[in-house]
Amino acid sequence: MKRKAILNIGHGNTINKKGVRVYDPGAIGNGFEEYKYNYDLVNKYVSPYLKEMEVDHEVIIQSERFSKLPDEINRISTKDDVIVSFHLNSVDYNEGNGVEVFYYPTSSKGKELARKMLEANLCITKLKNRGIKPNVSGARGHALFQKTKATAVLIESGFISNDRDIATLNAVQEQLGRSYAKAIAEYIKG
Ligand SMILES: [Zn+2]
Repeated sequence: MKRKAILNIGHGNTINKKGVRVYDPGAIGNGFEEYKYNYDLVNKYVSPYLKEMEVDHEVIIQSERFSKLPDEINRISTKDDVIVSFHLNSVDYNEGNGVEVFYYPTSSKGKELARKMLEANLCITKLKNRGIKPNVSGARGHALFQKTKATAVLIESGFISNDRDIATLNAVQEQLGRSYAKAIAEYIKG
């Protein structure tokens, strides 16, 4: 069976305190929304370029809470597939900047994929390199790594709260999408 890539656009939906599904924009900064940025990145660029390279893939947005996402992904993937979850970082001040990629601490495959995705970002954006990071318990996206079967990474492509980061990310969105697609294709075919 052909390996495939699961492209997860972070946020989009969540369940509010009344149990009602509502729109979750993710982080908001400098007039931009995390979810919308990654929605365009994935749907306009990463997905079409993967298609061009004949890499099987599916785009998934959590239908409810982030905690339900692993089950939703497990239904459409096997252990041979890869999961790439797209996010943007945010802090309460403008200074935090750069790119980082998380992987499951004991996964050597995840570490390799994280390295490739980090490099795919840096060669285009030239943003600050915050490195690849093992996703320890309690860290962002832990459930995604712990409860899914496929090799998973979570990318924080830059800080939406930093005006220079988001200006760069907007300026190079297409090239970044193409670079991510190339890295995913190389990993899957390699
Ligand atoms: Zn996020």
